[in-house]
Amino acid sequence: MSAPAWLSKKLDDGRVICEACSQRCKLKEGEYGICGIRKVENGELQLLTYGLAAAVHIDPVEKKPMFNFLPGTKAFSFGTVGCNFSCKFCQNFDISQYPKEHDHQIFGEELSPKMAVEIALENGCKSIAYTYNEPIVFFEYTYDTAKLAHEKGLKNIYVTSGYESHKAIDKLAPYVDGMNIDIKGFTDEFYKEICGARLKPVLECVKYAHSKGIWIEITTLLIPGKNDSDEEIRGIAQFIHDLDPAMPWHLSAFYPMYKMLDVPPTPASTLRRAYDIGKEVGLKYVYVGNIDDEAHESTYCPSCGKMVIDRRGHIGQYVTNHLDEEGTCPYCGYKLEGVWH
Ligand code: SF4
Repeated sequence: MSAPAWLSKKLDDGRVICEACSQRCKLKEGEYGICGIRKVENGELQLLTYGLAAAVHIDPVEKKPMFNFLPGTKAFSFGTVGCNFSCKFCQNFDISQYPKEHDHQIFGEELSPKMAVEIALENGCKSIAYTYNEPIVFFEYTYDTAKLAHEKGLKNIYVTSGYESHKAIDKLAPYVDGMNIDIKGFTDEFYKEICGARLKPVLECVKYAHSKGIWIEITTLLIPGKNDSDEEIRGIAQFIHDLDPAMPWHLSAFYPMYKMLDVPPTPASTLRRAYDIGKEVGLKYVYVGNIDDEAHESTYCPSCGKMVIDRRGHIGQYVTNHLDEEGTCPYCGYKLEGVWH
């Protein structure tokens, strides 16, 4: 379905600029944006996937991953086709890159904002997550859904690569309660060569969304030989720490995928090394994911060190939360940072 992409502006030269993400595509009549799902038609930018979900699941919120955010609850999760990045290691390339690789074809099942909210409520979800592909490329669809979700008492989660423009964040901030933002590497070369993007706008986005009061958790997929040097890992940890030592950091294991089949999986030792660096730098919440390591998936009180959220089994399978509704540690009274109710 097509709907006006209202986060856009007409330029004097007749082109239309999309103001949703930092790619800032300037498009002539008939042209598509880098994401492949925003197109100028009759002089107006259109979002071609409004109300058209290509992937829909009910997931544990831990799977987003969001760990200091309504632990043990379910998130109604959906995404569309299309993406503003072109990561060679994308786990969801079959939807994210589909329009670019199939002559701008799109696909999906009808899922209006109202339907999404109703299904979430019927299934006892506490939140809606915009995920699987990059949500900022279907901004208007997420905005309408998030607004309606808030009215019905649901929270909203953006799972994103962090290319949202400031203008988009201004619009989303009243409705988006949590974001999981990837910092995929800490060099511009990594972003340019492997993701088709740049590092700086991502860091700016993290800072700006944080300044707007959105709860943010960071994810870094560690890829052997590509972004896993001590220097890069420490750089990301320090960036997070300088912004907010309570911002959780998820270190995720890579497995060969899509256009990166020639790189081996991340060894457990790399994840442990990165975990130790994160803790050395002073981050309060560091987690290891995509690998069997329950001890480093649980949450420990930053004050007394006791385990306060116990995570076992597959991600989100068994979650025992010992915190109260305010996130208070039962052992020492420290109020853990996060979204707890
Ligand atoms: S959302 Fe799509 S069209 Fe808009 S700036 Fe980003 S890549 Fe370009």
